[in-house]
Amino acid sequence: MLKVENLNVHYGVIHAINDVSIEVNDGEIVTLIGANGAGKTTILQTITGLKKATSGLVTFDNIDLLKEEPSKIVTHGIAHVPEGRHVFVDMTVRENIEMGAYMFSRKDKAQIEEQMENVFEKFPRLKERQSQLAGTLSGGEQQMLAVGRALMSNPKIILMDEPSMGLSPLLVQEIFGIIKEVNAQGITVLLVEQNAKMALKVANRAYVLETGKIKLSGDAKELLKNDEVKKAYLGA
Ligand code: ATP
Repeated sequence: MLKVENLNVHYGVIHAINDVSIEVNDGEIVTLIGANGAGKTTILQTITGLKKATSGLVTFDNIDLLKEEPSKIVTHGIAHVPEGRHVFVDMTVRENIEMGAYMFSRKDKAQIEEQMENVFEKFPRLKERQSQLAGTLSGGEQQMLAVGRALMSNPKIILMDEPSMGLSPLLVQEIFGIIKEVNAQGITVLLVEQNAKMALKVANRAYVLETGKIKLSGDAKELLKNDEVKKAYLGA
């Protein structure tokens, strides 16, 4: 479904992504784990067109994404929940969710309403708080809002950048539960995480990124047992 092949990305002289290849198949949860600065965010930003690649290939359902603008890329069914959530704090929860539809040029009112009901069904807490300003939500609720907004585009794949960042252990559990649920409803997930343990538990397959290069890859449950991974990422 999503294929990243021999990708190279630079920030000036910094070679941030070095010959990275990643594949995500339809229906999977694939996680990309790695330490601060490994290049995880850069890979997601390159897939969604926010960062230009130096070389390599990124295709989604055989469409060459590197040739397209970010606004076009989302129309293929790719939703991005960026790091730090980026909700519109001075807008209500409902308005934030609606923005998800407008950003992805779904302007049909009935369709927006229907999609919003789907989102509210998944996140009853957002329904309860739909008239509240997004800035007054807790961190976990803002994360739910960011995911809910992304779902408004009815994506085939959702790219999530560190959804557990800054959340309490209980909310981390909740967010990972939501990721599983979203996936169970047929949405493929590419998950970037520093919380390697939780990410490997929820994912089917994983890639370990170290200073811009893929160090290890394979079945997520196998990697959970891998000594190298345990030592470097699981605090064992
Ligand atoms: P984190 O987990 O801390 O978010 P990450 O794995 O997502 O890290 P990236 O943000 O992709 O890592 O950064 C990869 C490398 O590229 C780092 O060395 C970083 O310093 C560098 N980098 C990222 N953005 C820029 C930028 N705008 N200008 C220069 N260097 C950058």
